[in-house]
Amino acid sequence: MFTRHRTEALFLKKTNQGETNQIFTVYTKDFGKLEVTAKAIRKIKSKLKSGAEIFYYSEIEFIQGKARKILTDAVLIKKFRQDLFQSQIAYQISQALDDLVKGEEEDIKIWNLAKETFAKLEQHPEIIYYYFFWNLLAILGYQPEIWRCVVCQRKLIPAHLYFSSVKGGIVCSDCSTQADKEIFPETIKILRIFFKKNWATLSKLKIDNQYKKSLAVISEDYFTHILKANTI
Ligand SMILES: [Zn+2]
Repeated sequence: MFTRHRTEALFLKKTNQGETNQIFTVYTKDFGKLEVTAKAIRKIKSKLKSGAEIFYYSEIEFIQGKARKILTDAVLIKKFRQDLFQSQIAYQISQALDDLVKGEEEDIKIWNLAKETFAKLEQHPEIIYYYFFWNLLAILGYQPEIWRCVVCQRKLIPAHLYFSSVKGGIVCSDCSTQADKEIFPETIKILRIFFKKNWATLSKLKIDNQYKKSLAVISEDYFTHILKANTI
C-alpha cells in the first residue's frame, strides 16, 4: 500500500504531460517544494480540477509512485490569482520561489512567507514581489548588508551610494567600483522596511517610478548573481 500524505500547498507552476496529465510544482507546508503529477486532470470529469490550478492554495493528498509523486486529492482553500497584472506578479513570485529554493525540504519560514505573500498580492501588487524576493533571500542566508558599507563598514550617509551583488550589499562612494550599481537612499529605506516586515508603513508606501526602477534593477542583478553562484 502507498502511504497517503496530506498537506497544505501553494500551486506555483504547471506543465501538460501526455494527453490528459499535468505536472504541478507546488510549495507545501510539510515537505517544501514538490512536483506532483495530476493524472487525467484534463478530462472533463476529473475531481482534481476544482483544487489543482496555479495560484491556488489547497489541501492536497499525494502518494509516492515508482518514479513520481501522484496527486490523489486537492481541496481548494483559496484562489489567489485576480486580474492580469496580479497574475504577472504571481508568476514572478512563483518563478523566484522555484528558482531559488532547491530540493524537497520542509521550511516553515519559507512556507509562511509564501503564504503571506500570496495573501497580500491583491492588496499590494506593486511591491509584493520585492517584499517576497528580499525576504526569501534573507531566509536563504543571502541578506545583503544595507546598514553599513559592506567594504569599509562605515555607517552610510545618504549621498552617492551603490549596490554590489558580488560584495553583498551597499557600497559607499569611496569604496565603489564601476561594476557597482547606483542606488537611491530612498530605495535602501524601502529595503530596510521590507526586512523589518513593517506592514504599517508598507501599506501606505507610495514608491516613485525612479525608485521602483532602481529596485527592479538591483533585484534582478542580485537574483542573477545568486543563481550563478549556486550553479558553480
Ligand atoms: Zn566604504
